Amino acid sequence: MVVALERDADLLRLGNFSGPDIPDDDLLRACVHCGMCLPSCPTYRITGQEMSSPRGRLWLMRAVADGRMDLFDPLFDEQMYQCLNCRACEAVCPSGVQYGPLVEASRAQLEQHRDRPGKEKWGRKLLMDWLFADAPRMRALVGLTRLYATSGLRRVVRKSGIVGKLGMADAEAMLPPIARKPLVPGDERWEADSVGGETRQAHLFNGCMMGTVFANSNRAAARVMARNGSDVDVPVRQQCCGALAVHGGMLDEARALARRNIDAFEAAGDGTIVVTAAGCGAALKEYGHLLKDDPVYAERAEVFAHRVRDVTEYLGEQDLVDPPVPVERKVTYQEPCHLAHAQRITVQPRRLMAKVKGLELVEMRESSLCCGSAGVYNLLRPEMASDLGDRKARHILETPATEVITANPGCAMQVRASLERNGGTSRVRHIVDLLDEAYGGAKTKKSLIGRRARSARS
Ligand code: SF4
Ligand code: SF4
Repeated sequence: MVVALERDADLLRLGNFSGPDIPDDDLLRACVHCGMCLPSCPTYRITGQEMSSPRGRLWLMRAVADGRMDLFDPLFDEQMYQCLNCRACEAVCPSGVQYGPLVEASRAQLEQHRDRPGKEKWGRKLLMDWLFADAPRMRALVGLTRLYATSGLRRVVRKSGIVGKLGMADAEAMLPPIARKPLVPGDERWEADSVGGETRQAHLFNGCMMGTVFANSNRAAARVMARNGSDVDVPVRQQCCGALAVHGGMLDEARALARRNIDAFEAAGDGTIVVTAAGCGAALKEYGHLLKDDPVYAERAEVFAHRVRDVTEYLGEQDLVDPPVPVERKVTYQEPCHLAHAQRITVQPRRLMAKVKGLELVEMRESSLCCGSAGVYNLLRPEMASDLGDRKARHILETPATEVITANPGCAMQVRASLERNGGTSRVRHIVDLLDEAYGGAKTKKSLIGRRARSARS
């Protein structure tokens, strides 16, 4: 039975999906069931089950859209959330099926129509509305976490076994070294070196993790851009990109964050919005889709999305100054899904690494297969995430690399924890840290701080 899309004033209905956020019928129909996506799908690779493949999941969405399956069927729920939303299927699909928007809309349907148990519902709301929607609060929490990790308390807590009892052992094991000083929007800026040609203007998107835990990598990115002729600032009032909310089916929360980011970057003036987290970059580039029905923001969201570049894309578009410092090292590259599949950026990071004197890039097997991080997937589904993390660690350990390069904070944490679990000792770093090292690092390029940074803006 095929159920047509019904439009009834404000309510859209497609079989057992009903508005406002329903999966797009035309996108769903684009799948021709060829199965070419199956080998790229991490959950299919692990389980070998059709239902855990993109084709299987699209079949389930079709069944709900045709009214043959209930929206609350446990199989539908399980498969929509077992998916990592890594978009590897999308990148190889010959029919151009846009799987990402389909699974995100399916999750939104589940969240809008089902009644989650109170604790779970409030926990999710608290996380999105209280923590991720408030950058100073996020900085304060990360500061406390750093205190815990560096004060000796961590050793005591680990010894007591309490983290295991609270079910937080996986999250705790993933804690990376945290930067001493977060990067606070508006507090620092970097002036362009004169390299000939026009000075570019780059507005750094700070991000929840990159602006706090990995704040020094954001500073490294800014230094590399400045060394290559960009003025770099970190616009005030910017917020979390909303990717976690989109992935969790909380589209209204994501839209609220998107509107605030659009306001913040419009106020910062012309220039490119440069992102150092692949997951954030993919979400920011999709603001046009997220706000397509917003009468005030739809057009502005499209303009915003076109201004966004991943840092490897931004630097890759330029004729870079040769990095002067040799880095005699073997590295391997872990491709973040949201860079390789969602943004289709695969060549630029490798080209940038090729510019570093003395560096040898040794490719690992399945470099673009998801490492199991996928936002908070590794915390919610630790079993599947560990299987994928172990597989990634094995591939890394097959190479002679002493360093793993990546371009997303979630991948960095997951790969680091997976390597530790598998006896690996390789260091995991963001590509901007490697490039910064090759340009001489913080010693050769200082930021303007505090009042000097703010007065340089005016
Ligand atoms: S999603 Fe694309 S690749 Fe996968 S079965 Fe459908 S048409 Fe084929
Ligand atoms: S997004 Fe990733 S995990 Fe989900 S179906 Fe596609 S390839 Fe599989």
